[in-house]
Amino acid sequence: QVVEHGMFVKHCKVEVYLTELKLCENGDVENSFTRHFSKADTIDTIEKEMKKLFEIPEDKETRLWNKYTSNTYEPLNKLDSSIQDAGLCQGQVLIIEQKNEDGTWPRQFISNNFPTSPGLSSASSSLAIGSSTYSSGYGRTNRFNPFNSSSGYNSYGYSSYDYREPGRGTSQPGLCGLSNLGNTCFMNSAIQCLSNTPPLTEYFVNNKYVSELNNENPLGMKGEIAKAYADLTKQIWSGRYSYVTPRAFKTQVGRFAPQFSGYQQQDSQELLAFLLDGLHEDLNRILNKPYVELKDAEGRPDEVVAREAWENHQKRNNSIIVDIFHGLFKSTLVCPECSKVSVTFDPFCYLTLPLPMKKERNMEVFLICMDPRSKPTQYKVTVPKSGQISDLCVALSKLSGVPAHKMVVADVYNHRFHKIFQMDEKLNNILERDDIFVYEVAGGKQDDPEQVVLPVYHREKRIRHNSYNCNLVSTGMLFGQPLFISVPRSSTTCRRLYHMLLDHMARYVNRPSDDEEDDEDHYDRPLYVDQNNANNMRYSRQNGFPQPLEVDMEEEESSMDRELPSENEDSQSDESADNEEETERCRTAPANDNVASPRRRPLFTFHVVNAYGNSEVNTILDDGRPIKLVIFSLHLDSRDVLDQPYIALDWDPELKRRYYDEKAAEDFERHESMQSQPTRKHSVRLRDCIELFTTKERLGVDDPWYCPSCKRHQQATKKFDLWSLPHILVVHLKRFSYSRYLRDKLDTLVDFPF
Ligand SMILES: [Zn+2]
Repeated sequence: QVVEHGMFVKHCKVEVYLTELKLCENGDVENSFTRHFSKADTIDTIEKEMKKLFEIPEDKETRLWNKYTSNTYEPLNKLDSSIQDAGLCQGQVLIIEQKNEDGTWPRQFISNNFPTSPGLSSASSSLAIGSSTYSSGYGRTNRFNPFNSSSGYNSYGYSSYDYREPGRGTSQPGLCGLSNLGNTCFMNSAIQCLSNTPPLTEYFVNNKYVSELNNENPLGMKGEIAKAYADLTKQIWSGRYSYVTPRAFKTQVGRFAPQFSGYQQQDSQELLAFLLDGLHEDLNRILNKPYVELKDAEGRPDEVVAREAWENHQKRNNSIIVDIFHGLFKSTLVCPECSKVSVTFDPFCYLTLPLPMKKERNMEVFLICMDPRSKPTQYKVTVPKSGQISDLCVALSKLSGVPAHKMVVADVYNHRFHKIFQMDEKLNNILERDDIFVYEVAGGKQDDPEQVVLPVYHREKRIRHNSYNCNLVSTGMLFGQPLFISVPRSSTTCRRLYHMLLDHMARYVNRPSDDEEDDEDHYDRPLYVDQNNANNMRYSRQNGFPQPLEVDMEEEESSMDRELPSENEDSQSDESADNEEETERCRTAPANDNVASPRRRPLFTFHVVNAYGNSEVNTILDDGRPIKLVIFSLHLDSRDVLDQPYIALDWDPELKRRYYDEKAAEDFERHESMQSQPTRKHSVRLRDCIELFTTKERLGVDDPWYCPSCKRHQQATKKFDLWSLPHILVVHLKRFSYSRYLRDKLDTLVDFPF
């Protein structure tokens, strides 16, 4: 079926999906039946369908109600209006009500005035819906003067709302709520603003608009918007309602501007702009718009040109909206090359003002230096809001003296690297609440290609003993602060890495006491030198998943005095990548107890894990040979940090308790920059916004001006001025700032003069 969709935008649409309505009987709202209707079906059709559905005799008098989630009910009293006209939308709940035998209606005593307590109001409040007024429809607006009294209102067509509440008295005219029809606060707020514009409201409630309705204007809406707005304004200012349901108005708006017809959240300003324009054209006193030729200023005085522009505007546009809301801009363009000045005057209906934005922001970050003795230090740095990670590093470098190119910036969350940032990433990806840590690292390409940077996590082993003479180790809990360590690329053995880490953590990890102390000689001496097999560990990928390291089981290994991982372990390591809890494995700590025995237990052993630290890619086996570190090292220039293998230090719980000083690990210092005054949330004045709006600016490359003198496009300077102001100035504040990646809602307060 072809249905009309919006009269303003005159498109016909073929209806593909029917509108689904939920139908139920008064008194049994819980049980609804779902039926589908065309948008062209009328209320009458629905009523007939519902009579059939609920086995109500055809001659029985019934009426339909629209039920909103807010427990507001609204009568559907125009039987000939279509679903589209009535503004019924997908999923709307309709209720059918049967007239009582005594001629009253069951819903008679239900006040719909107080949405929070439907059906609970006293019996003294009665819903005065006689069947005569009920069927009369709306649109008759005679004898109505809301500024005067509440008398003479009975004939007003919105009689379905009309009920008396003796004892409550009347509401104050204009002090009237608008019920939310579902995400319609954008509309309601615009209506409230407009409704509280005295000259406009006076114009409508005193019926001055009637004689000025312009039904013929092709740019208008056949007077429908003006009439709908008048009806609504009269209700609001009748003094009879504490709230009204702006349903009929919304339906009219939706007919002419289909973008507002649904129940999605919309832009209040867009609606207001539509409304001001719609009301203007519906009430335009100019019936035939003359063609007006625009003349160039040609150096004539501003006053003359401005008057001419305003007169030209009024030749085509003359309405109550123009009287109240229209003003005149002056815009001045100056060509940078020939200094040609072009002045034009243009009417406006509202001012769209930018908000002065702070271009900088303060960030609090922790710097962790390479020097193992220095505590992490908290800094407050000022960075450009639209800057990059590199700007943060430069700012921090100035305060700390650590070279910016030696910094790695990471978001640390739950003891792991939530994100490791690239230098060119935007700072607006970092939120106020993020914990940002900046690590000083050695290495990096420029510095020393021989150094590689490893990301390291701490985990505490959970060990259970079983009867097989080995421990069951399950994946440990992450704890402490993750760290980066810079190590030589090609000569790092497990043993060396172990001691480098101990050195690195010297501030909070106590070395085992003298009798347990390692022999210094062992530090750098590769214990099993086999250059040919230096790359015995390979890191392979399949389907993008890190695969276990392949470990060549060389024959010579059998001669090594160490416990080889069992077959069982190898078979389980695949699964372990998937399930943290199933990563129980039978293993002896391999770090270095196979060498130079008898030796003490190491504080921790190594595993290669994923970015979350919860699944193990593999164990780093200590065979005394250098670890092939290239595969573990942080690829600072690669984007897929999550694919990065991380090294987990799996701490023996008992040894962790003895040697890992949690308090020292969490200790930090505050740099004096932290003392700087917290920037108060400052408010701006409306004047500041206007000044920003009227600031001279240079046109962008994409938006040049055609200079009639140079005969080509130029990046001219442009300046706006407010030449003449309307009686009522509509101000629209641009609260959203758009960047490439996100829409930022500004929360700057703007002080308005009242
Ligand atoms: Zn020029």
